[in-house]
Amino acid sequence: MASVVVVLNAGSSSLKFKLFEDCGDAEPRLVLQGAIEGVGGPARFAVRDTANNVLDEGVVAESAVSHEDALLHLVGWLTRHKDGHTLVAVGHRVVHGGDLYAGPVRVDDAVLSSLHALAPLAPLHQPHNLKPIEAIQRRMPDLPQIACFDTAFHRTQPEIAQMFALPRSFWDQGVKRYGFHGLSYQYIASALGQYEPRLVPGRVIVAHLGNGASLCALKQGQSIATTMGFSALDGVPMGTRCGAIDPAVIFHMLRSMKLGPEEAERVLYTQSGLLGVSGLSNDMRKLRANEATNACARQAIDLFIYRITREIGALMAILGGLDALIFTAGIGENDVATRAEIIANLGWTGLAVDAVANQAGRPLISMGTGPTAWIIPTNEELVIARQVRDVLRSAQSQSKHSGSVAAGGTT
Ligand code: ADP
Repeated sequence: MASVVVVLNAGSSSLKFKLFEDCGDAEPRLVLQGAIEGVGGPARFAVRDTANNVLDEGVVAESAVSHEDALLHLVGWLTRHKDGHTLVAVGHRVVHGGDLYAGPVRVDDAVLSSLHALAPLAPLHQPHNLKPIEAIQRRMPDLPQIACFDTAFHRTQPEIAQMFALPRSFWDQGVKRYGFHGLSYQYIASALGQYEPRLVPGRVIVAHLGNGASLCALKQGQSIATTMGFSALDGVPMGTRCGAIDPAVIFHMLRSMKLGPEEAERVLYTQSGLLGVSGLSNDMRKLRANEATNACARQAIDLFIYRITREIGALMAILGGLDALIFTAGIGENDVATRAEIIANLGWTGLAVDAVANQAGRPLISMGTGPTAWIIPTNEELVIARQVRDVLRSAQSQSKHSGSVAAGGTT
């Protein structure tokens, strides 16, 4: 009977999942994928095969569906469609591992309470990520659950890259730059060699441009700097998030504009970025469709590109140059014009777009003798499946040696 692992990515109103077959030392193999959307209301679910064909879809319930209901629906579906598989573990995407976790960890009561303690650092994400962990712990306490963190990959950064110029006591209380999208960057770092072996030891900047967007400087495949900081609000503008702003703007919002803290937070997270500047949409496809006739849509794109260009310059200064620029995530993988505009702004580095390759979405989209530019589709769920495999494997080998089962890689 094949062993399978479920990878869960729980957001505020959705539960995305992928099922992987454990293939021993080989790469975990995707079996199926899907999502329950609209949690909190009458949620819908859809399951797709690896080629994205719908296998099953429907309504979970007409009434309000809780996160636990959504999870139970998924577990029920998987149980009915077992197909000779045995579920051996669940891997969870968890946004914040703080300073505690520089790698994946098997969840027990102590780990769970440490992850709850980090919730104030990511109040909009962490509680949702932890809900399915708790629900599974209640219903299937013996099923191993592995937490995999968006922050962990950045723990290789030098201390100075993680510091704010605040009084030292703030650092001691965890006020530092953690960085996010680490599972995506880890995937890209692991894939570089398949595209061009010379990239692996090189000076690489990865532009993860989705609804959330950030950039990461990789040296020898390790994160040395990234644009998101204490929260996933920092760095470049995003679909609905503002990116870095002068913090005094927030005092102004609170004092002079009389916004409450929650209202100010809502503005910065959900009403800013591409949506806020365009007044039209957070969706790059819609902005591109309207850029010729709608000046605000065009300016939102211009600001996005401008800020990304500036951040690339800053990361190049830290890397001491640039060997390759990688585009990934929804916009990075699909938006031909965004890639072309960013590369054009970087012409001074010797980077030159190969327009035909860029239009065709080929992996290598640059030409000439300067730095290279690439499209590499990200795969965060595969990184989680690999991490689950590694944690289970190391627990097995430790229990062989000591007769006990140990938790995974904390620092
Ligand atoms: P998330 O951060 O939610 O995972 P995604 O990585 O799915 O986000 O990226 C969503 C963004 O990608 C949206 O702005 C969407 O418009 C953009 N996008 C997706 N497909 C295309 C496309 N074919 N052309 C341009 N933009 C696209």
